[in-house]
Amino acid sequence: MGGSGLVVRDLSVGYGPVRALRRVSLEVPERAVVTVLGGNGAGKSTLLRAISRTLSFHGGAVTEGGVTLGGRRLDRLPPDRVVAAGVSQVPEGRRVFARMTVADNLRAGALGGDRSGRAAALGRVHELFPVLAERAGQRAGLLSGGEQQMLAVARALMAAPKVLLLDEPSLGLAPLMAERIADTVREINTQGTSVLLVEQNAALALRLATRAYVLEVGEVTLSGPAAELAASDEVRRRYLGVV
Ligand code: ATP
Repeated sequence: MGGSGLVVRDLSVGYGPVRALRRVSLEVPERAVVTVLGGNGAGKSTLLRAISRTLSFHGGAVTEGGVTLGGRRLDRLPPDRVVAAGVSQVPEGRRVFARMTVADNLRAGALGGDRSGRAAALGRVHELFPVLAERAGQRAGLLSGGEQQMLAVARALMAAPKVLLLDEPSLGLAPLMAERIADTVREINTQGTSVLLVEQNAALALRLATRAYVLEVGEVTLSGPAAELAASDEVRRRYLGVV
């Protein structure tokens, strides 16, 4: 498997007898924003879990295929080594440590590294999300939904990833807050991090991404430049609600 970015090749995943992904292949080139669209249960979260190697926490396993970053295999590594290799996941449902302070949540995202590296990462996330600096001493559970999503993204960024995996960042957020998160994703990408974005909000995702894949019942059924998919009748009808 080659490719300088993140490459998923012929990936199949099962949860016991349930086959959740069938031979899925996709690529996130360096510095790109790529989105995966799909309805409930299409396999979007499963794909991200397979890349971040957190599948086993959910009772799932890769049965075929592999994942590489810059040509290096990730699919044999434990989850913390995947983060160290440059891939951080923001899980669905903005799971923050509710009883811990905002500052401690961020500290938990910084995998090892030296002190100055951690300070630089913290400076960067505070610049992206000034509210997290203001709320540093507050318990994360007291933040608004949008702020918790910012914290979840910021925590993943503390590991200074090359690739950020984002699972439904706009879910449950008011449209204005979803737009703010989208702006931040754009900014993060401009600063050099590539993004694999999984979304049910196809309109938002297709505006952010350069390339898109459609996942249906565990299989990639469409892929191409985001603008092309946004213009296709099938995507407009099924994912953009245009009749
Ligand atoms: P959603 O947007 O609803 O989260 P999704 O596209 O992320 O959907 P997945 O959560 O990846 O979809 O689910 C893909 C398939 O795998 C579904 O059929 C789902 O029921 C099944 N599945 C997901 N997680 C598990 C699990 N922990 N155990 C068994 N089956 C699972």
